[in-house]
Amino acid sequence: MSKFLDYKLTALKPYTPGEQPKEMQRLIKLNTNENPFPPSPKVIEAVSQAIENLNLYSDPNCTKAVSAVAEFYNIKNSNVFLSNGSDEVLAFVFHGLCPNGAAFADITYGFYKVFAAMFGVQKSIVPLDNEYKINIVDYKDLQETIFIANPNAPTAIVLTLSEIETLLRQNYNRLVVVDEAYIDFGGESAVKLIEKYPNLLVIQTFSKSRSLAGGRLGIAFAQDELIADLNKMKFSFNPYNVNSLSLIAAEEAMKDKAYFESCREIILKNRSYLIENLRLLGFRVLDSAANFVFVGQNEKITAEEYYKALRENNILVRYFPDERISDFVRISIGTAAQMQCLIQVTKNILEGINP
Ligand SMILES: *Cc1c(COP(=O)(O)O)cnc(C)c1O
Repeated sequence: MSKFLDYKLTALKPYTPGEQPKEMQRLIKLNTNENPFPPSPKVIEAVSQAIENLNLYSDPNCTKAVSAVAEFYNIKNSNVFLSNGSDEVLAFVFHGLCPNGAAFADITYGFYKVFAAMFGVQKSIVPLDNEYKINIVDYKDLQETIFIANPNAPTAIVLTLSEIETLLRQNYNRLVVVDEAYIDFGGESAVKLIEKYPNLLVIQTFSKSRSLAGGRLGIAFAQDELIADLNKMKFSFNPYNVNSLSLIAAEEAMKDKAYFESCREIILKNRSYLIENLRLLGFRVLDSAANFVFVGQNEKITAEEYYKALRENNILVRYFPDERISDFVRISIGTAAQMQCLIQVTKNILEGINP
C-alpha cells in the first residue's frame, strides 16, 4: 500500500476471482461458471469483420445491441442499459442507488460486500435459512436497497417469480435488485415485471448463458427513470463503457436464438447427469437452477479434500472456506465428456486410487 491511498480504502478487501489458468491443455475448468461452448458462429463472424473499425469509438448509446436485447424481451429500448460486465451495473447501483444502505444474504455473490466497502455503503446481512434458502419475509421491514441473486450463487437455489413479486410489493419505496446471472438455466425472469414495478431493477449477463464472459457484457432492465439514472452515472464515468467488438457480439448473440437454445439444452442435460451421479456417490447436491451445482457433505470426504483431489487430477472447481458453506464445493456444468470425466475421477478419488 502506498502512502497516497485514501484512508477510506485502506481496509478494502478486493474480490477474489476464480483461477484463470494460463495452461489450459490438460485442465478441465469448472470453477467460474463460464459456458463450455464458444460464442455463436454468427458472433465470431461479425466480430471478425468489425475489427477494422477499432480506430473509431464505440457507440455510447449502444443502440443496436440495446435494440437486440429489447426485441428479445419484447420491451422498449428505454428499459435496457448495457454495461461492461454486469459487475459494472452493480457498481453503479452501489454507488448511486443505495442511499439507505444495501441488504443481501450472508451466502450470495461475493462481490456485493466488496462493492459495499468500495463505495462506503452500509450493509445489512440477511442469513439464508438452514436449507440455504432465501426467506422473503426476512426482508420485510428493511429500508435498504435489496440485492437478490436469483438463482442464488453459490447455492444454485431459485426463488419463484411470485416470491420476487412479494418482495417488490412489501415496500414500493425501496429498490429491489434482482441479479439474474443464471436465470436462463432455471426459474422465471423478473424482466416481465418491470412494467408494473418502478422499484425493480433486473440485472443479467452475457457471461454465462451466452458464452461471452471475456466480452464483458451486462444488462440492466428497469423503468425509464432508473435506466436514466444509470446513464447519468455512466456518462459521468465512462461513456464508451462497452467496446465496439462487444457491442457487435451482444447484438449477434441476442439474435441467434437457436444457438442459445441448443447450448442451454445441452447444459441442462449435463446438469441432470451430474446431479444424479454425484448423489449416487453419496454427495448432497442442492437442487440447481443454474449452470453449476453446489455439492458436498459426503461422509467419505470433506469438501476441501475433494476440491484438492480434483485439482491434483487437473479438474478445477471452486471451494469457499466461509464457515457456513465450507462443506461444499461449487462445480460448473461443462460438456458431457467433462462431466463423465469428473464422475470417473470422483469414483477413483472415493475408492482411494488416485491415478
Ligand atoms: C457471474 C456473476 C456476475 C458477474 O457477471 P459479469 O457480467 O461477468 O460481470 C454477477 N452476478 C452473479 C451472481 C454472478 O454469478
